[in-house]
Amino acid sequence: MTGRIVAPDDGGIAEAVELLRAESVVAFPTETVYGLGADAFSARAIGEVYRLKNRPSWNPLIVHVADVEAARKLAAEWPAAADRLAAAFWPGPLTLVVRRAEHLTGVGAGNATIALRIPAHEVALRLLAASGLPLAAPSANRSEGISPTTAGHVLRSLPDVPLVLDGGPSSWGIESTVLDLTTAVPTLLRPGALALRTLRDVTGSIALRDAEAADGTARPSPGMSRRHYAPRATLRWVGDANRADKTDKTGVLTYEGKEVEGAEILSADPREYAADLYAALHRLDDAGVTEILVQEPPDGEDWLAIRDRLSRAAAK
Ligand code: AMP
Ligand code: MG
Repeated sequence: MTGRIVAPDDGGIAEAVELLRAESVVAFPTETVYGLGADAFSARAIGEVYRLKNRPSWNPLIVHVADVEAARKLAAEWPAAADRLAAAFWPGPLTLVVRRAEHLTGVGAGNATIALRIPAHEVALRLLAASGLPLAAPSANRSEGISPTTAGHVLRSLPDVPLVLDGGPSSWGIESTVLDLTTAVPTLLRPGALALRTLRDVTGSIALRDAEAADGTARPSPGMSRRHYAPRATLRWVGDANRADKTDKTGVLTYEGKEVEGAEILSADPREYAADLYAALHRLDDAGVTEILVQEPPDGEDWLAIRDRLSRAAAK
């Protein structure tokens, strides 16, 4: 069976709600990437998410909710920082990790915590409201693959998803920033769409988990990262894509100011670069190249999430 892409009109939303209530899964647009949604309380639907994605069971899921009230109901504890961050950034691409309410099992990969956010996408919010369900939703792609930023990307990676609500291209195009609020100082678990400088205005200091990201300007070491976000082609990170060896099966990904003939050229603005990154990797894969040379992006905290994704895509 192959899935269908449907318009997110009343009929499309109703069909999606019916599938979710029947403990099936539905792909839906968010402002970060497309999510593969399941009723967070349904063991059967959650199992289907892990199966379709071939996702390892230790990797927990983010739960999407309609409002702060719904988030609090899924948490055992709701720290003051969560209120401040939610007020400032929700709906939006920030995921908060808090202690999990005991009655919610299955989404946390056995953790005592839960990751929550309110997505800033009109279609996602209508789906949450119409279903009345908290929706566990990882990115709607095979595990380790490139995240989908269009409805078409979803079915290319997961042809068996029964329904994809089409909300157009995701505006941020990169996953949410994940912040752990169960530590004394909030800890960055995953760099993402929202830049750290923006979050610090609300939280004060933020702890970084690994040495790699310690100063935000350090060069990640691709070989050490867990493979994720990867195209089919081998991805190679280079200091100067103009001078690197190429064959006729080599694709190049670069950005304005570092142009290379025949390359995918992204913006030199990190927000715009991130918004086009996954679509560019999908295009290079579709062009049938066997190797993608990535011009190393600039240093600096604003490029942290992009460097994280590219180094993971390059990992063996
Ligand atoms: P994905 O939904 O595939 O974009 O990735 C979800 C990510 O959210 C995970 O890989 C973790 O980084 C984070 N996450 C989800 N749930 C938790 C949790 N309970 N504790 C810590 N991190 C979490
Ligand atoms: Mg993912």
